[in-house]
Amino acid sequence: MEHHLPVIAIVIPCYNEEEALPISAEKLLSLLDRMTADGLISPKSYIMCSNDGSSDATWDVITKLHLRDSRIKGVSLAHNRGHQYALLAGLMEARNHCDAAISIDADLQDDPEAIVEMIKLFREGKEIVYGVRSSRQSDTWFKRTTAHAFYKMQKRMGLDTVYDHADYRLMSNRALDLLSEYGESNLFLRGIVPQIGLDTAIVTYERHERVAGESKYPLGKMLSFSIDGITSFSAKPIRFIFATGVILLFVDIIVAIYVLTSYFAHTTYSGWTSLMISVWFLGSLILIGIGIVGEYVGKIFTEVKQRPRFAIKDKLWD
Ligand code: UDP
Ligand code: MG
Repeated sequence: MEHHLPVIAIVIPCYNEEEALPISAEKLLSLLDRMTADGLISPKSYIMCSNDGSSDATWDVITKLHLRDSRIKGVSLAHNRGHQYALLAGLMEARNHCDAAISIDADLQDDPEAIVEMIKLFREGKEIVYGVRSSRQSDTWFKRTTAHAFYKMQKRMGLDTVYDHADYRLMSNRALDLLSEYGESNLFLRGIVPQIGLDTAIVTYERHERVAGESKYPLGKMLSFSIDGITSFSAKPIRFIFATGVILLFVDIIVAIYVLTSYFAHTTYSGWTSLMISVWFLGSLILIGIGIVGEYVGKIFTEVKQRPRFAIKDKLWD
């Protein structure tokens, strides 16, 4: 790689971004120009716009941009499938035509200057470089707190993600190849990419306001995205059911002691003692039962994903 300059693909998922895209494309093209002039990247580097079934003129905008500068390329999904899928489509489209791909949102809230840093790290041999926000000053207090609460909950639920990293990252061609082996249809890239392995690094940056247009990620979408992430990666919630059942079994003993002492002290109505004991005992048995069934469901869940069982990084042969 010392001798040839890397071809970089900047991949942008675009959903109803007719307002933001012309501004963003302009900025990214001049960034490409600058990096090319500095001898950092190949002049063949380009921008891949992945249109996520937009209902506005986004695809027309992409087409016009492409006609003006062929370094702007595009792929268009037939339906709106969501940010993750649009991004994957763009990455897979670029995969065999670049040395590394960088994903960034169309609104350029993530500072594009970090791309220079990412590429430098890539040239030093890092294969995945995560963009991490240095602060959340530009977010509302509400978005900031809910986002941090989500990260904490995800960790506790067994989903390992990079803190304050959204989908702004560089992936080498090899990392993209490994990513392509994940065939799951519930896509949560922030969970999958850390599982790929390889040499990684982090670049921090400031997050800005949108250049134009409005957020396509209201709270409801964010919440379901987070729950999606957990349930796609972890069977821990099922274990909670089992654990609750076992804990209740111990609570039963305390309840039983209390109920029986009341019974022998003759302070109870008839029937109450047996009722109390059976309700608590059966309750915990049912939970344990569901937990056991859940354990098997959890196994099936990991099997059906058919994730790659290992990823080969290097080989010595002959
Ligand atoms: N996006 C997409 N499909 C969707 C929603 C969003 O491709 O269904 C894209 C959108 O065009 C943008 C990125 O995902 O490039 C992030 O969306 P947005 O900036 O609205 O989210 P926020 O930054 O507010 O969380
Ligand atoms: Mg945004």
